[in-house]
Amino acid sequence: MPGTVDLLPPTTGSAVSLDVEPLTVGPRFLRTTGMSRWHRPRSGARYPNGRDCYTAWCGYGIGGSDRAGTLLTAEDVPAGQLVCATCEGRAIGAGQEEQPPGARRLVFGPRELRPPVNCPGSRRALLVPLPGGTTARCLVCGDTHPVRAMGGPYNPRIAIIQHPPGPALVEPCPFHRWRQPATDGGAVVCGCGRPMPIPEGETP
Ligand SMILES: [Zn+2]
Ligand SMILES: [Zn+2]
Ligand SMILES: [Zn+2]
Repeated sequence: MPGTVDLLPPTTGSAVSLDVEPLTVGPRFLRTTGMSRWHRPRSGARYPNGRDCYTAWCGYGIGGSDRAGTLLTAEDVPAGQLVCATCEGRAIGAGQEEQPPGARRLVFGPRELRPPVNCPGSRRALLVPLPGGTTARCLVCGDTHPVRAMGGPYNPRIAIIQHPPGPALVEPCPFHRWRQPATDGGAVVCGCGRPMPIPEGETP
């Protein structure tokens, strides 16, 4: 079949009913309409309802349900569209694909390196109170937000409500990123003691 690749056996530690068939070939590229990039199948299985469910090299299960959108397959990726670098690298590394990556745009964003969705100063006592007592400046990101009384009767505290990080979000600890910010005399430090400085050009 043109435009297909050989698949690895769909090995698993779980029980598999006898009417599930392993797939030996699959599309070179696949994604659902809800995915931001193309992936490559490592293995696949056909279920009694006729559905082909693939496991991508990066670990995604694709095609098992329509929740993530309609399954799309491609022999080649349309120009300019993104390809999952984990899938591409592993598929080539495992010999499924001889062709080098060429001009395809590989993308891989290690999740732990991305800034957090919520500022780590949210709901914490990492703040400078502002006059009036209803707002405070977040020590972690520099933005001003309303404060609320939080915590139970045994550890009451005034904290800033949950908020997205502002542009002056402190630099991450190289080891613990933004996971454990604390204050040390008004400056933000990681729980390990390393400084988390305000980015250059941002005023506190
Ligand atoms: Zn992938
Ligand atoms: Zn903040
Ligand atoms: Zn640290």
